[in-house]
Amino acid sequence: MNPIDPEEARKLFAQNCDCLLAAAEPLQFPASTLPEVAFIGRSNVGKSSLINALTGRKGLARASNTPGRTQQVVFFDLAHRLMLVDLPGYGHAEAPRVEKDRWMGLVQTYLRKRQELKCVCVLIDGRHGAKDNDLDMMNLLDRAAVVYQLVLTKMDQVRGADHSTRIQQTQELAAKHPAALANIIATSAEDKLGMNELRVFLAGVGQ
Ligand code: GDP
Repeated sequence: MNPIDPEEARKLFAQNCDCLLAAAEPLQFPASTLPEVAFIGRSNVGKSSLINALTGRKGLARASNTPGRTQQVVFFDLAHRLMLVDLPGYGHAEAPRVEKDRWMGLVQTYLRKRQELKCVCVLIDGRHGAKDNDLDMMNLLDRAAVVYQLVLTKMDQVRGADHSTRIQQTQELAAKHPAALANIIATSAEDKLGMNELRVFLAGVGQ
């Protein structure tokens, strides 16, 4: 991968980003030749806020607690260069079994079979660090041999020494997982921390 100029990455993300479609089942996944990066995490991790902050569009991605959005894979076409894919969140303790099974079928099919998928951003709440279901997702991606980038969210809420401790802990975690990239990206959709770093990373995937 060639190094990406931050200005080039900024320009890419300033271009049009349109919702192509929301798929409720694998048969609805679009035919596409664009490289894809998918975003996944526990519900409420800040995934829609992050996608909106990255693209500078407030209402583009909707929160996972939006009715009807919980079980959809949403495809966003960024400037016909890169497909950003919003995967449904996990960790709804109260969700009925049948819904959890449906989530598994939809997400696993996407992660295991999607040819265009280049990389997954696994979002981890920076305030708490990785939880058991985050580790389950990382193990699933290791087994599927899908490369993933760990992205800490809500880092505006993690202050002082805790900030670097959280990053270090997450680096140590990544080192134990074969498909995890070593570098950790710390972000905040609130104060835009890490947005440029994440854009540069994503633009590199879309190269
Ligand atoms: P999703 O369910 O993963 O899509 O999460 P949302 O983007 O809807 O965010 C869940 C909650 O976390 C909302 O109340 C957001 O306002 C809040 N949130 C999201 N990102 C940040 C952030 O960077 N910093 C802070 N402090 N709160 C955030």
